[in-house]
Amino acid sequence: MRTKSSKKNKINVVTLGCSKNLYDSEVLMGQLKANDKQVVHEDEKEDGNIVVINTCGFIGKAKEESVDAILHHVNRKEAGEIDKVFVTGCLSERYKPDLEKEISEVDQYFGTHDLPQLLKALEADYKHELVGERLTTTPKHYAYLKISEGCDRPCSFCAIPLMRGGHVSKPIEELTKEAENLAAEGVRELILIAQDLTYYGLDIYKRRALADLLRELAKVEGIKWIRLHYAYPTGFPLDVLDVMREEPKVCNYIDIPLQHVNSELLKSMRRGTDSEKTIRLMNKFREEVPDMAIRTTLIVGYPGETREQFEELKEFVKHTRFDRMGCFAYSHEENTHAYNLVDDVPEDDKEKRVAELMELQGQISFEMNQEKVGKTFDCIFDRKEGKYFIGRTEFDSPDVDNNVIVDGSKHYIQIGHFVKIRITEATDFDLYGEPV
Ligand code: SF4
Repeated sequence: MRTKSSKKNKINVVTLGCSKNLYDSEVLMGQLKANDKQVVHEDEKEDGNIVVINTCGFIGKAKEESVDAILHHVNRKEAGEIDKVFVTGCLSERYKPDLEKEISEVDQYFGTHDLPQLLKALEADYKHELVGERLTTTPKHYAYLKISEGCDRPCSFCAIPLMRGGHVSKPIEELTKEAENLAAEGVRELILIAQDLTYYGLDIYKRRALADLLRELAKVEGIKWIRLHYAYPTGFPLDVLDVMREEPKVCNYIDIPLQHVNSELLKSMRRGTDSEKTIRLMNKFREEVPDMAIRTTLIVGYPGETREQFEELKEFVKHTRFDRMGCFAYSHEENTHAYNLVDDVPEDDKEKRVAELMELQGQISFEMNQEKVGKTFDCIFDRKEGKYFIGRTEFDSPDVDNNVIVDGSKHYIQIGHFVKIRITEATDFDLYGEPV
């Protein structure tokens, strides 16, 4: 007979997947705190008696990670270490009936739009007045700002609309209020996220309003950096480039997943663009904001991708010289449009193509970083690792881009503060420097 754990009434929230999922966990935690619940995020001590797992259901590897996390905590429950396990997020939204059958030890499964029901199961009430308030889990000086939920795009390979629903923008006033609250708590850097940032406003304002939102957010006292993640190439609102050029608070940085460059594959991917338009947009970025750092994400091994089409993608990466690049092997996701195609590129070929592209990008990143040696950049410092202070320039987003590393045995730097750093040395993905 399984015994009740002796642990105190404390809820441990575990987040998998992307920054949008982290944002949702922070909203959940804000609600629980306002209900006087003791709540922690990914508490290593694991001394809570209730665990909420906010899962990811994007692609194969991410789904496996989420299932492993569920099994880990279910085993702890069986061992009497904890009393309850609740599961929410994208995997739960997408596979609830299967999960309920296959891992029935979980107390309850919730979808991505079931916050009030989840709170009820945790003996808490949903508090409307808290909209825009949350318990952030990032270092105090930066925070994610989710400007919309869901996605209306038809990308053939993507299951996100199945899990997150259609696109819903948050009004500019609400987001500005949220930014003011965050600034009052010491946030200096806002990282704007969405499934598709550039679709912002089309639903509530009947026009693309990302540029207007940026101008309003730039007026918020205390915010120094505003960063853009998850832009979409088709219908890209060029007025955003004007704001980026004119407004010093808006980082000259953009994350824009392009996925591929071959016109035939882009057509099959239902991206609404082609090779020529993609190349033209990248050139426009470089013309309008010459020092802009461009981050992109590419998919290799999509159904039917030939060696020639992959070579075309390699040439594109060589010529465009992205500042930052990530690459995924295509994952054959049921209920997506591409699932009707034959997943004909062998897995090891996919992995080889990922490695080839990342090798190429490593070389490009090394060369681009060498050009930064001797230059001085405004940097913000996120943490200390051993004797080193770890920071970032305006051109680097947390966790995914370059680090700026300062020797803490020679210099002292306050975490969360901006410091001018002269770069003295560089590798493929790290910069070394000293304060000036
Ligand atoms: S823009 Fe495309 S890839 Fe991105 S979330 Fe929407 S459907 Fe998925």
